[in-house]
This record gives sequence, C-alpha cells and structure tokens, in this order.
Amino acid sequence: MNKRPLYFDYAATTPVDERVIKVMVECLGFTGNFGNPASSSHAFGQQARQTVEHARRQVANLVGAEADQIVWTSGATESNNLALKGVAQARGVAGGHVITSQIEHKAVLDTARQLQDAGVAVTYLVPDADGLITAQAVSEAMREDTFLVSLMLVNNELGTVNDIAAIGDIVRARDALFHVDAAQGAGKVVIDLAQLPVDVMSFSAHKIYGPKGIGALYVGPRAQQRLHAQIHGGGHEGGLRSGTLATHQIAAMGVAFELAAQLFEDEKVIVAGLHERLLEQLSSIPGVRLNGSPSQRIPHTLSLTFAEGEFNSAALSHSIAFSATSACNSASNAPSHVLLALGHDTHSASRTIRLSLGRFTTAQDIDQAADLIKAACTSAPAFWQ
Ligand SMILES: *Cc1c(COP(=O)(O)O)cnc(C)c1O
Repeated sequence: MNKRPLYFDYAATTPVDERVIKVMVECLGFTGNFGNPASSSHAFGQQARQTVEHARRQVANLVGAEADQIVWTSGATESNNLALKGVAQARGVAGGHVITSQIEHKAVLDTARQLQDAGVAVTYLVPDADGLITAQAVSEAMREDTFLVSLMLVNNELGTVNDIAAIGDIVRARDALFHVDAAQGAGKVVIDLAQLPVDVMSFSAHKIYGPKGIGALYVGPRAQQRLHAQIHGGGHEGGLRSGTLATHQIAAMGVAFELAAQLFEDEKVIVAGLHERLLEQLSSIPGVRLNGSPSQRIPHTLSLTFAEGEFNSAALSHSIAFSATSACNSASNAPSHVLLALGHDTHSASRTIRLSLGRFTTAQDIDQAADLIKAACTSAPAFWQ
C-alpha cells in the first residue's frame, strides 16, 4: 500500500480524536443512547436529552458562555448564515448597513452577497499589510444605519488573530451587533464570552477533533431578540433552529470541546515548539516569506510564499498534504481571495502554500516536511535573492 502523505492540513479539517469517537458511537445502536432528545415522555428520549444538555455545557465552558446561549447547527457555515441572515431579517426594515472584511471565510462572504441582493449595504474592509482588521478601520466604516459587524477571530489561511475585544468595544458603542466567526479560534486562543463584547459567535466541531456536520452558534443577551430562525419546523433550540438534534454529533462536539479545554495549555506549548522548529528549517530557503502578522497569530497555521523560481507545489503535494490556497476555495481553483486582498498577484498566490499543524503532528513530521520543501526549492535557479 502506498504511504500516505504527511498531514499538514489541520486548518481544513482534523481527524476525530479517538476519545470523541468512543462517545459518538455510544449514541447510535439499540443498546446505546439512540433516543430522540425531543421524546420527553420516556427514558430513551430523556437520556438523549441529558447527553445533549451535557454537551451544551461542555461547549459553553470552553468559551466562557452559559449553556442556554449555545444553539446547535450543522457547522460554522450554517452558524454564519444564521447570524447574518437572522440578524438582518430580525431588523425588519429594508436597507441598513453591514460591515465585514475581504478576508472572511466564504460562508460569510457569500452570505453577505445575499444580504446585498436583499438591499442591505455591505462594506468589505481591506486588511492591513499584516492581514489584520484594525479597530480603527471598523470605526471609520461605521454608519448611522450599521446594524451588524461580522469579522473572524482567526483567519483560516493566515492564522492571524484579530483584536476582537477592541473591535467589539467600537461596535457596542454604536449599538450594532457583533458577530465573530471563531471556527479557527476555538481551542487555540482563549475565548471568554463572559468578558468579550461579542453578541454572536460561530463554532465548528471538525476543526478541533470533532466530527464534520455539527457546529454551534453562541447567541448572547443583546442578540436574543434580534435574531430570526432560518430553518423552521418543530421549534427546537428555542425556535432558533428546528430539526431533530443529532445526539451522536452533539455528544461528540461536547467531548471535543472539553478535550480542547483540558489540553489547551499543553497543546499551546507543543504546537508553538513545532511551529518554531519548522520556520527555523525553512528560513534557509532564499526569499521565503511568511504571510500575515508574525506576532498576532496562532502557531498552528502558516502561509508561506516562495520566491519566483521552479518551486513546484503540485509535485510536493504527493508527499505532504497541505493547502495550495485554502480547502474552501479549492473547489473553484481560483487564486485565494485572502492572498489577493493582501496584495499578492495571481503568480505569487500560486507560489503560496498553507501548512497547518495540530494534535497529531510530531517533530519527525516537521523535519521530514522541511526536508521535502527544501528539496522542492533546490531545483529552482539561484538568482532568487
Ligand atoms: C471551516 C470554516 C468554516 C466552515 O465550517 P463548517 O463547519 O465546515 O461549515 C467557517 N469559517 C471558518 C473560518 C472556517 O475555518
């Protein structure tokens, strides 16, 4: 059997942790916890309901929220749709203004376009040279009729971390709502929603060792009465998101979030060490450049642009699983909108790779990947620098 490539694409998805799988399968079979959480009249349903509420507390605990502020969804894409469309619809009157940025995930960008079609004005902020959206940029873009600001915590291509607290203060002062896509941030940076001026926040399980197809939306007190459901039928989740709750997915997301909390300090140190080890080895490549802020970032995700030459990322992809742009864009094969917003042209974007590390990355993986990348560069001409 062919050896599998080294996995350096944790920002696209993570494997499900074995401890999560164990809890997940216990919710499936006849001897297990398979009941419908809405069947409150018998023990099967009651047990499933308990599992769902336990998981809700586990998710809430990682991010400093109350359990009853967590709404289950099918993933961060749905959470982002619910946040943007739900807030816009609840506002009721036509028009109004929303602020987001050019470097959001497509789940926010495409949804913002939908709002534009419905008559909402949208400002797409340009990131600074470090790939960050500054509080000042948000402040300058605010209008009288701005009712929502939607920005990500951690950028999925760059790993850069926005100053959500500073931005949130500005949004609050203007009485708008603040939505944050934290799909790449949960478990990697401290999130304390009891303190943060954030009203709505999106999460996904499969970016932190849970299964695909499950996510959550935090709905804070200021957003409670200002959010309309997008999926109707049955009134589950306080009327905000109908549909039979996927007990196995939910239980799994709960354990994944609890594990992320338990392992947080250790993983921070380990991944930072691996990140440093990788950068140190790659720094010997002439002309290689790290995209995005070198300091305001998570160590898990690196976007590297190589100098012009014969660097062939397609050849490298047989030995290392990385993202050529970002998994979310790969379907269209277009150059990354994030890199373009940072001032790259199509050519330098095509010489850019995203490497992302995670729980199962070893020092040996790092050394092997560094050797492979360096080898892919040595064939290039020497007039680089
Ligand atoms: C992965 C990702 C999403 C989409 O999450 P799904 O659960 O796959 O729908 C949204 N935003 C960001 C920043 C992401 O990284």
